[in-house]
Amino acid sequence: MNIELKACPFCGGQAEIKTSINTKNFPTYQKAYVECKDCKATTDVFTDKNCNGKHIFKAIEAWNRRCEHDGTGSKRSDQE
Ligand SMILES: [Zn+2]
Repeated sequence: MNIELKACPFCGGQAEIKTSINTKNFPTYQKAYVECKDCKATTDVFTDKNCNGKHIFKAIEAWNRRCEHDGTGSKRSDQE
């Protein structure tokens, strides 16, 4: 499985995977998304309700897909 994160499509900065555990609901579940360290662009948040860890790969996939298509970003207003 390729887990490499591509450079940010908005600013070219470095992206990182963010994970957290939601303990407010039961059963608890993990959340993951990708965020750019520079411009704070993020993917959708993916949850791990099946506890198989695939949410992390889904987040990475979503990030890398956005890099390829430069499609549905929320931070495009500063790029004419
Ligand atoms: Zn960025």
